[in-house]
Amino acid sequence: MNENTNEAKRGGISVETEHIFPIIKKWLYSEKEIFLREIVSNACDAITKLRRLSSLGEISGIDDSEDAFRVDVTLDPDEGTLTVSDNGIGMTEDELSRYICQIALSGALEFIDKYESSESGQNDSGIIGHFGLGFYSSFMVSDSVEIVTKSYTDAPAVHWVCGDDGEYEITPADDDTPRGTSVIMHISEDEKEFLSSYKIRSILEKYCAFMPTAIYFTDVKEEAERAAHKDEHEHHHEDGEECECEDEHDEEPKPVNDTHPLWQKNPSECTDEEYREFYRRVFSDYREPLFWIHISADYPLNFKGILFFPRITNEYESLEGQVKLYYNQVFVADNIKEVIPEYLLMLRGVLDCPELPLNVSRSYLQNNSYVNKISQHIVKKVADKLCGMFNTERERYEEIWKDIKTFVEYGCIRDRKFYDRVKSSMLLPLTDGKHVTVDEYLEAAKEKHEGKIYYANDKTAEAQYISAYTAEGISVALLDTVIDTQFMSVVEEDKKCKFMRVDADIADVLKGEGDAASDAGLEALFRRASKDEKLTVKFERLRDASVPAVITESEESRRMGDMMRIYGMGGDMPHELTLTLNLENSLIKSLAADPQSEASDKIAKHIWSLAMLTRKQLTPEKLRDFLAESYDILGYVK
Ligand code: ADP
Repeated sequence: MNENTNEAKRGGISVETEHIFPIIKKWLYSEKEIFLREIVSNACDAITKLRRLSSLGEISGIDDSEDAFRVDVTLDPDEGTLTVSDNGIGMTEDELSRYICQIALSGALEFIDKYESSESGQNDSGIIGHFGLGFYSSFMVSDSVEIVTKSYTDAPAVHWVCGDDGEYEITPADDDTPRGTSVIMHISEDEKEFLSSYKIRSILEKYCAFMPTAIYFTDVKEEAERAAHKDEHEHHHEDGEECECEDEHDEEPKPVNDTHPLWQKNPSECTDEEYREFYRRVFSDYREPLFWIHISADYPLNFKGILFFPRITNEYESLEGQVKLYYNQVFVADNIKEVIPEYLLMLRGVLDCPELPLNVSRSYLQNNSYVNKISQHIVKKVADKLCGMFNTERERYEEIWKDIKTFVEYGCIRDRKFYDRVKSSMLLPLTDGKHVTVDEYLEAAKEKHEGKIYYANDKTAEAQYISAYTAEGISVALLDTVIDTQFMSVVEEDKKCKFMRVDADIADVLKGEGDAASDAGLEALFRRASKDEKLTVKFERLRDASVPAVITESEESRRMGDMMRIYGMGGDMPHELTLTLNLENSLIKSLAADPQSEASDKIAKHIWSLAMLTRKQLTPEKLRDFLAESYDILGYVK
């Protein structure tokens, strides 16, 4: 909204109700069901106001205990009405005409403005602005709306009725109208779904589950059926028949909401079981969360929330979290990525931000410095929690690392600040099941392989390479998820180190003493064997004399290939492989003595295939060839 809006208002643009009404009906919210949130939250507000007046001593003589207040949502499918009643502050006739009959013009102008932009497709958020028009959203689903209200003052009760053309009528209401307000919505023909008790219950569950006043839902038709059933049941009893239905009929009605949500409590007063119970209820997940963070930020941020780390059973399970945003216990929206960084949306949780207006547009949130501060505060709290666990309960932290690793790495990739906060608590899982931090790894590497972190991403396929390293006392990290490659780049840049897959290079420690001169005969022999005339052949004296040959592929070339595969490009990229022949190995020695014979060709081919096999890189045809070679060789042995 630019500043000129106020100017325009002074210029005297007039908006007639009959123009606004059709727009409201269609466009006030992109999700119609929000009308119920608006009406029920007005009812709760009316009660809060009355309780405040009472606690301030402005009024006396009313029972202001919590139980004395309630909101009733009553559905009458036969009559076609949905009614929301409260015993709150009520309105005098004068208030009714000021608050309800005069749509706040500035709000309306803003509304029209949004309405225009919604045509260009920007209105996809379900929330299109705050206009002080909440009550009017009832017209999105109603042909006409009635209000019966009695102020807490002596003023007489009034009855207001308004059609969807914006024409209204005010008359006196019955003298015995109790204090408070009833909004009676006559649901229109097209919106019949809002006469379904299931639908209304689920809307209440979504938007009103934590509103601050007890809300009761009744479907009068269901109620009547139940009463009839009960009569019949009592009849049976009179007849002395056996009863199977126990005493289900006399259940006390329960409010649909929890008026004291856990996030409002002081973290030090909440038990672990309460957090688990809350998590189960809100996210319908019967697995226990791994841990949680209860945030209670004071002025000036002034927001509360609980974030849960869900247990993720496997890598492929959807990482879609759910962070619900509330405004004073009124649900606003799920997953507002403007308020919480995208990567934290993998978490589940609730945030209650009373500083944010209930209805806010995306563009408002994006450019709001308060929102940025909330977001930063959350990031800091999450990072603090991770570091805290690392420092004080490292054992448990290592245990759950596999569950949170993807999330933490993703956060590091997306947000450098987050990385900086958590980097000292990032763990590298090792192939032997232990965990070390990057710093710990590099510290241990100083002597033998300074600045290099060796890793594997397939424990089975790379088993031979892994054991060559571990035999020399070098730890190998196990980085086996898709996201690891990107995470490695972040660490490499920060720590000036290099991640090397075990088959990327032959580490110096694996090499023995003495020079290894190249051998043209062996080179030619193995180029023939590999059917690759340009194959790079290197010669080394490896400490493990039992291994004749090792195939490596440079880290860069392989990562490039991996990325191409991840993004579905390039299919079968040619690999730039290097074959290293071990001059300490007896087979290689014998081949060197006689590189031209037919038998040498066969043996070289077999060695090549075996080396490829350890990389799991044989295509089906090559595997067939390999088997044929093997049977052939078995013939010789005999
Ligand atoms: P907003 O709630 O954003 O001010 P609404 O259109 O929803 O806008 O309501 C306008 C005003 O009408 C409220 O501010 C309140 O003063 C009055 N009002 C609405 N519902 C009730 C109610 N149930 N009881 C008393 N006053 C109400």
